[in-house]
Amino acid sequence: MTDCIFCKIGAGEIPAKFVYEDEDIVAFPDIQPQRPVHILVIPRRHIVSLAEATPSDEALMGRMLGVANRIATSQGSTDGFRVIINTGPIGGQEVMHLHMHIVGGPDPVGPMLKRV
Ligand code: 5GP
Ligand code: ZN
Repeated sequence: MTDCIFCKIGAGEIPAKFVYEDEDIVAFPDIQPQRPVHILVIPRRHIVSLAEATPSDEALMGRMLGVANRIATSQGSTDGFRVIINTGPIGGQEVMHLHMHIVGGPDPVGPMLKRV
């Protein structure tokens, strides 16, 4: 999709240091890391968000989770990590191309914010 920053990263048009890549998926460090390990996993293909994904995207998203697990370990979050998929305005999604955040250690990520 034109004017989508993550499509451009996936296509190699904007530089990012891939820590993983295959035909369908790339992973690279977040430009503004929130934790010592903070990697984004994206499909190369434009999917707007988890809310817009269809059943035909589910195998790809399953593979993204497997990639996330292996990357978290190889990037040094060996004792657990958190995967976050911000979705839509309620979820605080800023880049409208599906992505998984992997955030991790060495220290615990901490509790999710309580807002109820
Ligand atoms: P969201 O809030 O949409 O879940 O998160 C988008 C994330 O993408 C943010 O954490 C932001 O720092 C990251 N980001 C935005 N633009 C770029 C970029 O050009 N390169 C990289 N590596 N990360 C980006
Ligand atoms: Zn895109």
